[in-house]
Amino acid sequence: MRVKLAQGGGGRETAALISELILSRFSNPILDRLEDAAILETGQPVAFTTDSFVVKPLEFPGGDIGKLCVCGTLNDLSVMAAVPKYLSLALIIEEGLEMALLERVLASAAREAAAQNIRVVCGDTKVVEKGGADGLFINTSGLGLLRSGARPSASGLKPGDALIFSGFSGDHAIAVLGARKELNFSTSIVSDCACLEPLVAALFASGCQIHSMRDVTRGGLSAVANELGEASKATLVIEREAVPVRPETQAACDLLGFNPLDLANEGKILIGVPDGDAPKALKALRAHPLGRDAAVIGRIEPRGSFPALLQTALGNRIILEMPRGELLPRIC
Ligand code: MG
Repeated sequence: MRVKLAQGGGGRETAALISELILSRFSNPILDRLEDAAILETGQPVAFTTDSFVVKPLEFPGGDIGKLCVCGTLNDLSVMAAVPKYLSLALIIEEGLEMALLERVLASAAREAAAQNIRVVCGDTKVVEKGGADGLFINTSGLGLLRSGARPSASGLKPGDALIFSGFSGDHAIAVLGARKELNFSTSIVSDCACLEPLVAALFASGCQIHSMRDVTRGGLSAVANELGEASKATLVIEREAVPVRPETQAACDLLGFNPLDLANEGKILIGVPDGDAPKALKALRAHPLGRDAAVIGRIEPRGSFPALLQTALGNRIILEMPRGELLPRIC
């Protein structure tokens, strides 16, 4: 069975689609009311974010667009010290998409949301004509309740801080590229796509101060290092040899001409903590499966000429540039 244009028409077929595909999987008292907007009572400060997902292909080793659209948005809340609570889910479906595929990715999204105790409280379903979209695009917005106490910020890094990366760099990008039929290359690398809230919660519970925290997605470590350096008016110095990269990811990069530090992740964070708190932070991260391979990868220095530098194995320092161009379109 394939999705028909009429299923996005707003009539009987749409109602049936929503009831069979969405409500059957995401049912909760707020969503089930099917009002024009969800009414949420939080009683405390909230963080709010949104993200669109256009990954190609829709399914890849380690995940699919359904898991990704939940994890991606929740992770942006977690790194802002907000405990994720609510999600919106908006689907733009191309006419002719296989119904079984749509059902698999929605089941995957529902599984991930349930595992994280998140409610999908509003949403939308559109169907566009063949060629009007590529299979399926999803937008999710997320709302989370802010933790009390000091909050990490992109501008919060201070000279002397240690930079910690929570695991291997570049796995998501390599897994997705490997799943694309047009690239004549295969890999056993699996996407790191994961909801990071449990890892972030463990980090907060460790009692370490967190000056800055960002999930490292499109543009990889290179992009995030530049963003944080600019925002904090500091220079991030990353030691190339200290960044965890799987040998197979490195081999794929050598083959394809990529730098593993430029590649997207979907389950990794870069954290800046006072140097004295680094051991405590590392211990907390490594005790959790999502942070088992965490490592200190660099330091913060007073702002020099550039926001980010890369220190090579020989001790030379080169500019760590923001990745340029359309290196890897449709990676998330
Ligand atoms: Mg982010």
